[in-house]
Amino acid sequence: MKVGILGGGQLGRMLLQAAANYTVETYVLENDPHCPAAHLCHHFTEGDIRDYDTVYRFGQGLDAITIEIESVNVEALEKLESEGVKIYPKPSAIRIIKNKILQKEFYSTHQVPTAAFVVTGNLAALQEHASFLPAVHKIGQGGYDGKGVQVLETEKDLRNGFDAPAVLEKKVAIKKEIAIIIGRNEAGETVIFPPAEMIFDPIWNLLDYQLSPARLADKIVWKAEAIASKVVEALASPGLFAIELFIDMNDDVSVNESAPRVHNSGHHTIEANYVSQYDVLWRIIQGYPLGNTNAILPSAIVNILGAEGFTGKARYEGLTEVLKMDNTFVHLYGKTETKPGRKMGHVTILHKDYTELTYQANKIKHLLKVIA
Ligand code: ADP
Repeated sequence: MKVGILGGGQLGRMLLQAAANYTVETYVLENDPHCPAAHLCHHFTEGDIRDYDTVYRFGQGLDAITIEIESVNVEALEKLESEGVKIYPKPSAIRIIKNKILQKEFYSTHQVPTAAFVVTGNLAALQEHASFLPAVHKIGQGGYDGKGVQVLETEKDLRNGFDAPAVLEKKVAIKKEIAIIIGRNEAGETVIFPPAEMIFDPIWNLLDYQLSPARLADKIVWKAEAIASKVVEALASPGLFAIELFIDMNDDVSVNESAPRVHNSGHHTIEANYVSQYDVLWRIIQGYPLGNTNAILPSAIVNILGAEGFTGKARYEGLTEVLKMDNTFVHLYGKTETKPGRKMGHVTILHKDYTELTYQANKIKHLLKVIA
C-alpha cells in the first residue's frame, strides 16, 4: 500500500517509525530536504504542502494520504479524494479545523461546549469589543505553537491584537489543560486514549511537561471523553484526532481546539500504551482492528527545547546522564541546527508513581540542555 504524508516534521518522523512494522510504502512531501522525516521514508519529494499543483502531483498514484500538520492545500486533497485516493482525515474535516474561525463556528453549530467568541475581521473591528475582555485573540489561519494567540486583558491591549480575520474568545479561568486522542475507522468505530494533562512553559508558551493519564476525577474524565467524542462524531471522518480541552475552576469542560492528525500530546503512547497513536492511524489506514489504547503505566513527556543563547549546530549536554535513567526513553528529531525554544526532541518517562514522574521530569529538564 502506497501512503503519502504531507509534512516531514517530528510527527511525520514518529509516524514513519511506526510504519516500519507494516507493509506500507511511504512517501513524504516537505519543503526542507533535511526535515526530521526525510531519511525515514521510502520516497521523499521536496515541495510545498500548501501548493495545489505540488500536492495534487504528489498524491496521484498513491492509495492513501495523511497529514502531520493542517496547513495543507485542501483543494488538491479534495480533487484527489474525488479521484479515489483515501484521505485521512477527509479534506472536509481539515478545512474546518485549519481555520480557527470555522472551527469555533463548527463547535457552536454542533453544541460542543467552547468559550464564547466573536469573529473580528481586522484590528479596527477588534477595538469595538472592549466589553468582551479579558479575552484571547486567535488568528484565523496560519498561527501555531502559541504564535497566533494573544491574551488581551485591558482595553489598551486591544491595539496589539491581530490585524487579520481572527477569533476573540472569552478568557477561561483554567484549572487544567488536557488532550484526548481519538481514532476513528471507516466503519465509524472509535478508540479513545486516556486524557493527557499539560503543563505549559510561561516563557515559550510551549509544553513544559505532560502527565498521562491526567489526574482527574472520573466524572470529569467522562465529561471530557463525551465532549471529545462528540467533536469527532461531528467531523464525520476516519482518522486520528486530538481534542484539546480546558477544565475551568468550576470543573466545567470546554474544547480549546482540535487537531485532525497525530499530536504532540500523544508522543508517550509509543512506550506508555498498548498501541501508540501512530499505530492506531496506520491501523485505520489499512483497515486493521484499532487496538488497545489503555495505558500500561503512567507517563510523563518532557520536551527538549533549544537553550536560550545558543544558535547553530546542536549539541546535547547531559544526554549520557538521562540515558542512564531507568524507564526513560529519549527521542531526538535529528534536527542539526538548534535555536532558542526550538523543539529538538522529547523524553518519555514511565513510572507507576506520579510524584516520581514529576520529579524525574524536572530532573531531565535541568540535566538535558541543547547548546551549540
Ligand atoms: P496553538 O494553536 O498555538 O496551540 P491554542 O489555541 O492552543 O494555540 O492556545 C495556546 C494556549 O493559550 C492554550 O494552551 C492556553 O493555555 C491559552 N488559551 C487559549 N485559549 C484560551 C482561552 N479562551 N482562555 C484562556 N487561555 C487560553
